[in-house]
Amino acid sequence: MTQSAKITTRFAPSPSGDLHLGHAYSAKLNYDFTQQHGGTFILRIEDIDHLRCKAEYEQSILDDLTWLGLKWPTPIRRQSEHFTDYQTGLEKLIKMGLLYPCFCTRKDIKKEIDESSRAPHMRPKLGPEGILYPGICRGLTTQEQQQKIAAGIPHALRLDMDKALSLVKEPLYWTDLKTGEQQADPERLGDVVLARKDFPTSYHLSVVIDDHIQNITHVIRGQDLYYASHFHRLLQHLLGLNTVTYDHHPLLITKDGNRLAKRDKSITIKSIRESGVGPDQLDAIFKEYL
Ligand code: GLU
Repeated sequence: MTQSAKITTRFAPSPSGDLHLGHAYSAKLNYDFTQQHGGTFILRIEDIDHLRCKAEYEQSILDDLTWLGLKWPTPIRRQSEHFTDYQTGLEKLIKMGLLYPCFCTRKDIKKEIDESSRAPHMRPKLGPEGILYPGICRGLTTQEQQQKIAAGIPHALRLDMDKALSLVKEPLYWTDLKTGEQQADPERLGDVVLARKDFPTSYHLSVVIDDHIQNITHVIRGQDLYYASHFHRLLQHLLGLNTVTYDHHPLLITKDGNRLAKRDKSITIKSIRESGVGPDQLDAIFKEYL
């Protein structure tokens, strides 16, 4: 980010369910930050997953955020309308030789992990979100890849993390709003999927491209995406995109220690506003879950 860039934050929900209290907390942190600094708050709809996203959820997101008192510029960017931007990014990484097709099903991956767990010398690597992809398709020859593609076996595209890191000559850093400069540790996520089998991009790829295109300066999001930020710094470097300042806020949790989930209807913003609670009471409610 350049010093003179105007502070711009974004709230980027996926319309795959109603917003819950945790989303409202995140949206408000982004909004309040821009209010304090004379910046712009952007709403972006992350709807690349056509199987899970629905127009009715997008409408309810707009209703919830309006009820919260937030305002954003229009038109809103909907990821589903920008697949060509993500394609350009993918092509760049393909030209750099950093992607490989992965034909694995979940079952194939589980089988490989189960087998290697039994062999002590090849224990599967653990990442922040579970066991990392064990690299089954990484070593396929071009001929093997072409045969599988010709046979119509669906494939995703994965980043070859080792190859990508070999192109990074100096350590990468990102700025954390609270703690300052952090050295990026993208390796923790392994060979991340950048284009899925069912649609030609992924959360990680789309989000860094959108943040760049929309001149986002500050990404304020949940602690669950802490390692995603390390990985996003690598993607920004490889694709020559702007960097941003990150802040990771605590996640709201229930009394029994569980993270709030979209399927839990009682804590949706919709149910809260329909119960007669006012938006001014939300800060007190957040505290019960923090
Ligand atoms: N669409 C993502 C989500 O709902 C956004 C995450 C982010 O802020 O980068 O979790």
